[in-house]
Amino acid sequence: MNSSLQIPLDLPNVRLLSSSYDAQGNFILEVESSLSFTKCRCCGHKITEFHGYDRPIRLRHLPILGRDVWIEIRPKRYRCRHCEGDPTTTQTLEWYDPRSPHTRAFEDWLLKMLGNSTVMDVSRRCGVSYGEVEGVLKRRVSTQVDWSGFKQLRTLGIDEIALKKGHKHYAAIISSLDDHDRPQVLAVLPDRLKETVAAFLRSIPEHLQTTVCWACCDMNEGFANAVQETLPKVAIVVDRFHVAQYYNREVDNFRKQTLQELKQTLSADTYATCKGTLWLFRHHYWSLTAEQRGQLEEFLLLAPELKDAWLLRHELNLLFEQEQTKAQAQQQLQDWKAKVKASGLACFDKFLNLLETWQDGITNYFEDRNTSGFVEGMNNKLKVIKRRCYGLLDVKRFFQHIQGDLAFSRKQPA
Ligand SMILES: [Zn+2]
Repeated sequence: MNSSLQIPLDLPNVRLLSSSYDAQGNFILEVESSLSFTKCRCCGHKITEFHGYDRPIRLRHLPILGRDVWIEIRPKRYRCRHCEGDPTTTQTLEWYDPRSPHTRAFEDWLLKMLGNSTVMDVSRRCGVSYGEVEGVLKRRVSTQVDWSGFKQLRTLGIDEIALKKGHKHYAAIISSLDDHDRPQVLAVLPDRLKETVAAFLRSIPEHLQTTVCWACCDMNEGFANAVQETLPKVAIVVDRFHVAQYYNREVDNFRKQTLQELKQTLSADTYATCKGTLWLFRHHYWSLTAEQRGQLEEFLLLAPELKDAWLLRHELNLLFEQEQTKAQAQQQLQDWKAKVKASGLACFDKFLNLLETWQDGITNYFEDRNTSGFVEGMNNKLKVIKRRCYGLLDVKRFFQHIQGDLAFSRKQPA
């Protein structure tokens, strides 16, 4: 039986000269270029006068059957007769970067591994140093958006993210969909100030600025003002999850307060069962089982005001789930506000204030519910990347990490 196997090297324009193992059992593949010319580094002419070989270089390549693979090549040099002093130029081949100790294929592999992982992890699993993985990121992933990937922008997502745990250092993140409807990060800005965001929006090429229809953000006046100043025709869409977060927090606080009051009047046993209803209380009613609904209702019977608050919150949740026009949603919100006022509850006061300012943006969600969806997905992705990279990040590197992640961990279309 034949126990050897031919594997294509997948390196264009080379001939394999020899293959051997080193003392550690790694493959050493000696290759030479099959091209007999290069471009002069001074004048750019194609030059063919062979001058000699450089010293051999070793480049890490994709592992084969669990062994590390090193490609050894002696770069060729060519002389130019067009230029004064007849300078020589070293030939380079497309499958490696002269500044890198790896082949491009190996770097692609590292970047792919970096999707959903950390630099530390990749360094350990792939047997390369931390600095080398960082070097690949620096060389291969841009720190700025390449506008040529966009014919239109349509929706911008603007969000903020705390760069370091416990520090009040926030970066603003601007995202959009590219021409293939894939989420892309356009910028990670060093702070979340209005001026910083406005400066970035102004830096968007003019032909793309005119294609923006929506800016999706949370209820942050700085972001909204930056958009209104620089792109006055663009409508603000308030991210519905930020809205829900806001009113949920208020109702949760009201629940806490109610429980403290119940503690005075209820028996220890009954109080204990009430305390256990937090999850049921927060969850969407429509996703609870019959038994869970029963438990929740029993609890709410003990606290009629909390029940009213819960019902009003439930109505808001339903409002956002419904397919409806902006005008219909506006009307529903008006009705809802009237009900809150009639109920005499104070727990929605802050939220009612917020609606005064943001109702238009909040209901714009109904005009464009499909395209604002990517902003939610992007925000979740960013949180995961951030968690993996805590403490290591400046904004440029964060941008590179996101770019690398989006580009290399993307599922191939089926
Ligand atoms: Zn020349």
